[in-house]
Amino acid sequence: MKFLSFRIPPGVTGVGVLIQDRVVDLSPVLTPKESGLSPFRRLLNHFDGLLPTTIDDAPDLTSYPLASVEVLPVVPDPSKIVAAPVNYFDHQAEMNEDAHISALGVFLKAPSSVLADGGTIALPYSDRRFDQEGELAFIIGKTARHVSPDNALAHIAGYTCLLDMTMRGGEDRSTRKSFETFTPVGPYLVTPDEVGPLDALRLRTWVNEELRQDADIKDLIWGVPELLSYVSSVMTLNPGDIVSTGTPAGVGQVSDGDVVAVEISLVGGLSAHVSSVGAVPCPTLGANRGPKPPAAVTSVRDH
Ligand code: MN
Repeated sequence: MKFLSFRIPPGVTGVGVLIQDRVVDLSPVLTPKESGLSPFRRLLNHFDGLLPTTIDDAPDLTSYPLASVEVLPVVPDPSKIVAAPVNYFDHQAEMNEDAHISALGVFLKAPSSVLADGGTIALPYSDRRFDQEGELAFIIGKTARHVSPDNALAHIAGYTCLLDMTMRGGEDRSTRKSFETFTPVGPYLVTPDEVGPLDALRLRTWVNEELRQDADIKDLIWGVPELLSYVSSVMTLNPGDIVSTGTPAGVGQVSDGDVVAVEISLVGGLSAHVSSVGAVPCPTLGANRGPKPPAAVTSVRDH
């Protein structure tokens, strides 16, 4: 099943399940409490991690053509976004990093950086380099604290595509990756039964017509269970939290007018436009510090 957040004119926000090309509005099944949370988070709380894999009573629920709704970030209001810094060996090599996740741990992106599929990434500065990082992310369905790798997958409501947009340089990762619109995510949460074995998934990222990243999820240094287990040893993961697994080799600069797209088999495709409208000179001085990214985009490895 594919779940999504959406908006219908004149501004009603909902959570739905995609049945063929129609969005079935699940709002009637939500508990009326917790009104401060998005419908998507209320749905996750309602099901306590177990999203339905079939909708038996869909005829009783209102549905809309997918083309008629505005798709929102799959979780519009995560309590946090956790991300893996260096979780593929080929990305470690291209960045000339002397360490990977086992020494670096994880970092946080601002929840306010989420962007919907088809949205516009706003580059904040006119004098800094910004890169695309295509990633597989998972969405927490059940509160997780000190979870073992063996029990980790039971805490995942589903999987989604994520673009971890990044300013290169020496500023802290939480600064460089938290600008408004720097986390396109979605368009759907796809339940684990539809995704199947994670090791079989392939991730590809394009900038315009150029294929920049082409990787197998099985090449993650820390796989999904290990990553969730580790993160849950640091912080409590709440339903709706997003954990991004890291990017493979092939990061590269994006500029005004580009279109970035990431596609993960069985999880879907996500794209965003890039704009430098309104960009100003950067007030911080980290441009020549930090990990050294590849100078130019290299062609993807043979798959
Ligand atoms: Mn990343």
